[in-house]
Amino acid sequence: MINTKYLLIGQGLAGSVLAWQMLEHQMDFHVMDSPSLPKSSMVAAGLYNPLMFNSLRVARMTDKLWPEMHKTYSAIEKTIGKRILHPMKSVKMLNDEELSDWQSKQQSPPGKYIGKILPQMQISGIKPFSAVGFILESGYVDIPQLIDGISKILHQKKLMIIEDLDYSSMEYQNERFEIGNQISAKNIIFCEGAAVIKNPWFKNAGFHPNKGEIIKIETELNDIEYIIRDKVFLLPSGKKRFKVGASYLHNQTNGLPEKKNLPLLTTKLEQLISIPYTITDHKAGMRPAVKDRIPVLGSHTKNKNMMIMNGMGSKGVVYAPYCAKIMMDYLTDENYTIPQFMNVQRYLTK
Ligand SMILES: Cc1cc2nc3c(=O)[nH]c(=O)nc-3n(C[C@H](O)[C@H](O)[C@H](O)COP(=O)(O)OP(=O)(O)OC[C@H]3O[C@@H](n4cnc5c(N)ncnc54)[C@H](O)[C@@H]3O)c2cc1C
Repeated sequence: MINTKYLLIGQGLAGSVLAWQMLEHQMDFHVMDSPSLPKSSMVAAGLYNPLMFNSLRVARMTDKLWPEMHKTYSAIEKTIGKRILHPMKSVKMLNDEELSDWQSKQQSPPGKYIGKILPQMQISGIKPFSAVGFILESGYVDIPQLIDGISKILHQKKLMIIEDLDYSSMEYQNERFEIGNQISAKNIIFCEGAAVIKNPWFKNAGFHPNKGEIIKIETELNDIEYIIRDKVFLLPSGKKRFKVGASYLHNQTNGLPEKKNLPLLTTKLEQLISIPYTITDHKAGMRPAVKDRIPVLGSHTKNKNMMIMNGMGSKGVVYAPYCAKIMMDYLTDENYTIPQFMNVQRYLTK
């Protein structure tokens, strides 16, 4: 029988970063993760980027999310002894209209993240564009490495339970969550990603998962030391290898890669590169997106010991560290209130 103060359900990116915080705070906790359910975290490219290209604005909360992201991933690197944070400049291919927009915004807030704009720059193997604009403070996080590193520690400390939570087996008795005759927890924190839509208590908390697909290619592009951004991204991922993504598909019933969806990526890829390529891998996952695109954190309206940290959407890399920090403040300071715009109550009290 396992008796624990906190039981986390799910060890994707969200559950891993929260578990790391709990390890740091020497809290009494266990993590349950499914042996078979997919993790969108294992599919994600892990990119972070401070600019929104459509409107050329600074992404929401960049000033708060970026420092917490750097601090947290650097500290996790020390804990697991592996490099996970890879700062890398990005270049955005610009057409005439975008070029003048980027030039005009160099002195306004987005300008902080705009590096050089080079009208003449040609990249071998990339089709000619009017210009390229460099983006600062971008990069990627090796999410599988992070999850694997935290998982190893949790296994070593015997804090890991590899099992599917069957919601119907959960009972609340004497102010504890009892799961079968096996686990007794004072608090439960759901970090189930898109599988939350099966959670009887939180499925109506604004979730609207969408499917994303990503491919790996091999191509003779010269070694490139930046992420190329256009209608798709090209993330260098080994010699002559790149990740290309990602698609957004709504109202999908499964998170599996489908051959019929490949043109959504390859058409855009072929508008970007001018040389042949071979697809070596094709993966998909469900992003745990929320209607207002802001994560959902905090307690259920009917039981404050039943909590959630989810809704990372397409920005898990930048949101997870900040959300885990908020959750820790909530768990350790009884006077702390989760800001309303991130609080799950905004959906449950409607
Ligand atoms: C193609 C694609 C590309 C992406 N690219 C990026 C990117 O470049 N940058 C970025 O920031 N984000 C990206 N994302 C989004 C990113 O993947 C998510 O924001 C993030 O990984 C979500 O993490 P999570 O922990 O909430 O969910 P998940 O990674 O899905 O983890 C949920 C975990 O909960 C477990 N679980 C669920 N139900 C149960 C249960 N009943 N019992 C036990 N365990 C359970 C699952 O097994 C899983 O391990 C991308 C997503 C996709 C699909």
